[in-house]
Amino acid sequence: MKLPELRITVCELHQELPRYNLVVWTGGNLSARDPETGLIVIKPSGVRYEHLTPENMIVVDIDGNVVEGKLKPSSDTASHCYIYRHRPDINGVVHTHSRYATAFAALGREIPCVLTGMGDEFGGPVPCGGFELIGDEAIGAEVLRCLADTRSPAILMQNHGVFAVGPTAEAAVKAAVMVEDSAATVWMALMMGEPIPIPRDLIDRLHHRYTNIYGQ
Ligand code: 13P
Ligand code: ZN
Repeated sequence: MKLPELRITVCELHQELPRYNLVVWTGGNLSARDPETGLIVIKPSGVRYEHLTPENMIVVDIDGNVVEGKLKPSSDTASHCYIYRHRPDINGVVHTHSRYATAFAALGREIPCVLTGMGDEFGGPVPCGGFELIGDEAIGAEVLRCLADTRSPAILMQNHGVFAVGPTAEAAVKAAVMVEDSAATVWMALMMGEPIPIPRDLIDRLHHRYTNIYGQ
């Protein structure tokens, strides 16, 4: 994929975030790495989703220096770049403040694995990282620290929201959608009583089937 095409993809994927009710106004952001050039396409900071176009996406290098674009890149650019620098297998990063997942983050609580869909997608709970301020690479470092201990492609950042990663930006968007869907169901279950944990060996079998056998 060429860089102009990646601008279109990143712009289109941003539109999925409000479509799935994962963001409001200018919250959240998304980026993708071009595997050929190593350059990263990311949202401009503080621009409303309906005003995003392929042309106003920002292109940065792996250290976060702007290569193309007139606007300021996302405030989380340094953290996205930190993730790309340390994980060559990750080519997409998505950040949202989606409501139910962020409610768990406000409590500093992981989302427990109490749904087969969570065993499938996350292979366990969705962990919650510590508090980090926005603006430098601290969030990226904390995201990677949490990802190292989990099979989940997404984590929560305490008091902040969801960070999801993937081999492509689309895969990262899917993970962000699934986190919110799971968080909403788990929240409802918590309102009614005590959700039943799924034993580790069954989670392993769910995750194995989903990653190796499920689908076409
Ligand atoms: P940006 O608009 O700068 O991407 O900030 C949104 C956000 O959610 C920061 O964490
Ligand atoms: Zn945020």
